[in-house]
Amino acid sequence: MNPKNTLIAALVAACGIAIASCVAVNAPGPTAAVAAPGAAKSSLPLPPPSVKPDKNGKVDLPNDQWAKLLPPAVYNVTRNAGTEAPFSHPYAELHEKGTFICADCGLLLFSSETKFDSGTGWPSFWAPIRKTAVTEITDNTLGMSRTEVRCSRCGAHLGHVFDDGPRPTGLRYCMNGLALKFIPAEAPKKPAKKS
Ligand SMILES: [Zn+2]
Repeated sequence: MNPKNTLIAALVAACGIAIASCVAVNAPGPTAAVAAPGAAKSSLPLPPPSVKPDKNGKVDLPNDQWAKLLPPAVYNVTRNAGTEAPFSHPYAELHEKGTFICADCGLLLFSSETKFDSGTGWPSFWAPIRKTAVTEITDNTLGMSRTEVRCSRCGAHLGHVFDDGPRPTGLRYCMNGLALKFIPAEAPKKPAKKS
């Protein structure tokens, strides 16, 4: 199987898992993940060769290895659960069509289809691209009870999710721009000019 077919097979398998998980939990409306139309077609950049999923589909690297692979500002957010300053990252104000992948491992996380302007200064989404893309963990640090959001594949800290988002989910995935990489949607081909 060539790498392209492998990627397609992985995406098809991932979609199957997403559908299965929705059926299994019988998710009633609001928390159901939203699939981005055309997401599977976009050519995603592959993470560095050392960032390979293991046989369980996880990327599990020690922090000293991440420190060598990631820019310090990204490492501070994704591996130290840091928070970038509001309005400091251009993704907060980005309104282009495309998809957002994990800055550490390249997993597809969010679509511009669910991005909204929260006014908080952080990129905000009302749903992940599929429910299984992120893992949600109770976070009781800083004297608050919040729900931390991590990449399901490599455990990167992405941000937090709050229940004051817009319809249809009512959720606000408040992400750090540094934890994401934006992949613009392919521009529609312009019709050939008539001579
Ligand atoms: Zn990741």
